[in-house]
Amino acid sequence: MHEVNSNLINMDSLSLFVGTGECNAHCAHCAGKIHRKYAPKEDGIVDENLIFKTLKDSYFNGAKSLSLSSSGEPTLSPKSVSKIFEIIQKCKDEGINYSPINLYSNGIRIGKDKNFCDKYLPLWKNNGLSAVYVTVHDINEKNNAKIYGVSNYPNLEIVLLRIHDANLLMRANLVLSKRTIDSLEKFVETITHLKKIGVDFVSVWPIRGIDDKIDPILSPNENELGKIEDWVANQCTSFKVKLLREKNRKVYETGKKLTLFPDGKLSNTWCNY
Ligand code: SF4
Repeated sequence: MHEVNSNLINMDSLSLFVGTGECNAHCAHCAGKIHRKYAPKEDGIVDENLIFKTLKDSYFNGAKSLSLSSSGEPTLSPKSVSKIFEIIQKCKDEGINYSPINLYSNGIRIGKDKNFCDKYLPLWKNNGLSAVYVTVHDINEKNNAKIYGVSNYPNLEIVLLRIHDANLLMRANLVLSKRTIDSLEKFVETITHLKKIGVDFVSVWPIRGIDDKIDPILSPNENELGKIEDWVANQCTSFKVKLLREKNRKVYETGKKLTLFPDGKLSNTWCNY
């Protein structure tokens, strides 16, 4: 892992790992597993001083947007997420106002547990949450469930409805892979569906391996990625679709986007130890 001296850079955004690392999915390509041994063992345990200092230093180093991520699924650690929002509120007393604040999720608990949604999503919204970023492998629920390694994945429209019911936006994080979306045709079909059901915006990238690099076997070929890139560049601007290819990852390489990992390291890469 390459550590970055945050005093030397002008940051754009900060990402925080939150929660125990527990997950309700079993993805074969999971990059979070390696970090789980450093995560707190119980929901609600948060290193408040470290989080506060990181939020403060990063903000005064230029970071304005904040992501809440995890080595597992953050909705399974709701007390920890709520504690992070308490710290974010405390930061406001010192003139630290992150916006937007986004939560990464696989969407499974959101789609399956209405009580959880009713209790926590409005609470987090009131404390500054802007959007939930839900990873989507395939709009076909059976295929999506297969990649997630679960017996069934909830209906994506229900996931979206519950996010919208809390007045939050939903971004679909679309993963391009030979196992799911591997051609321009399939990509356009997927984007058309996501737009039709009311997803607010979409971010797309080719599947990455646990070395934090594009997976050369599973990623669609360069020719197909080029066609998808051209389509995205020429599409109607009313629906925001952003494609991240290797050349768009400068914010990570330059350290403009840093992540605080469960072992306390602030770094620009998820790669293995
Ligand atoms: S949902 Fe995310 S954290 Fe959970 S197994 Fe899949 S990749 Fe790993």
